[in-house]
Amino acid sequence: MTNKARARRVRMILTDVDGTLTDGTLAVLPDGEEIKTYHVKDGLAVLLAQIAGLKLGIITGKTSKGLEHRAARLKIDELVQGAVDKMPSYRGILARHGLRPEETAYIGDDLGDLAVLKAVGFAAAVADAHPIVRRSAHYVCKARGGRGAFRELVDYILTAQGKWGLVTAEFETIFDRKL
Ligand SMILES: [Mg+2]
Repeated sequence: MTNKARARRVRMILTDVDGTLTDGTLAVLPDGEEIKTYHVKDGLAVLLAQIAGLKLGIITGKTSKGLEHRAARLKIDELVQGAVDKMPSYRGILARHGLRPEETAYIGDDLGDLAVLKAVGFAAAVADAHPIVRRSAHYVCKARGGRGAFRELVDYILTAQGKWGLVTAEFETIFDRKL
């Protein structure tokens, strides 16, 4: 099956956080709180996917208050934090949304992502993912983690689904209304 055919079936896009939505670096404050930086291109990807009617989810092994805020602001459908083993979280998401594995895509960067990558219908890796992860992915992004890789995956899926024109047209009307 081609990547395009895989991407066409996707109804929910799931992502890892550290090393995927971020470049993997963490700033640790004296009180132990960690600061991550996200890319605006990936934030816009969330909006574009939502316009296209796709659901979105985050599965991360770590826990961060900042991520909770960002996920709420972006109206992400599912945020699962502290998921050291990501498979139970993934199965829970499938059950809650009534989805089959082939209707989900997942993007990750490291070994903790392998199980979910092997389970989903469309598996993606960031450009600087671990070699094993890249080999397990159907699609390896040109962009690195935290540098628009998630956006690249969303663009690919929207294009494969023939929704790119609709999404950009709708995006422009949203933009007009905000002016
Ligand atoms: Mg990661």
